[in-house]
Amino acid sequence: MIVIQADLHPEELHLMPILASTPMTGLTAHTLAAFASNYLWLLQAGDSAIAVDPGDADVIDRALQELGLTLVAILLTHHHADHIGGAAALASRARCPVFGPVDARIPMVTHACAEGDIVSVSGFPPIAVWHVPGHTRTHLAFLVADAIFVGDTLFGAGCGRVFEGEYSDLHGSLQRIAALPAHTRVFCAHEYTRANLAFAAAVEPQNPAILARLNDLSDGRPSVPFVLADEFASNMFLRCDEDSVRAAASRESGHDLHDAMDVFAALRQWKNVYV
Ligand SMILES: [Zn+2]
Repeated sequence: MIVIQADLHPEELHLMPILASTPMTGLTAHTLAAFASNYLWLLQAGDSAIAVDPGDADVIDRALQELGLTLVAILLTHHHADHIGGAAALASRARCPVFGPVDARIPMVTHACAEGDIVSVSGFPPIAVWHVPGHTRTHLAFLVADAIFVGDTLFGAGCGRVFEGEYSDLHGSLQRIAALPAHTRVFCAHEYTRANLAFAAAVEPQNPAILARLNDLSDGRPSVPFVLADEFASNMFLRCDEDSVRAAASRESGHDLHDAMDVFAALRQWKNVYV
């Protein structure tokens, strides 16, 4: 069950940082809005909180105050400023550990994490660390309870840009995430679902799941988290094996594409210039 607060206009988002609260096994995830399109997350267990990708310290502080929680740890997925901007200030005030990748661009990390690590925070379920390169070279995802915090790797009906590394890196990371149980809740860091569905409709105009998902979106309400099952029908980047998607990517790229990875790269390049 996802508890969603009343419909909000964008200008009200900054007055009310907690947009939604999602109860899960052993914790509750609170959805916070920041900047133009970001989501930051507070995970609550008892009166303790873990912040995930706290790009804006003020947003986190106001939510902690509103919920009466103490910050006990910070998780960082990757080095981009909208994900780490508030981490140093929050960590120094709370004197709490910062878990994140080994990356010189994230100097505030106190506990470096790598693929296969388990982050233990008192009172919380164990948090598994995955290395999911593609958007950035050192990007991590965090798995806890029946959820995954993917940063800018997978988005609602879309995926992140490939800023570092190869298209095959991001393709591999998405394939790995997609192999999780279908009921897995996906927490991504941006509200891009509507724009991504518009692109999906350009790729697969005959796909009824795209229009159905667009109709389910409600202005001012987060479309995140979503469950992985929602993605299989309407996320083109997870449908690279479909004939219709392959045909559209071949048409757009001007090459006859066969391999799913080549389809993925063509789709990602198409999306980069899609208006
Ligand atoms: Zn990013």
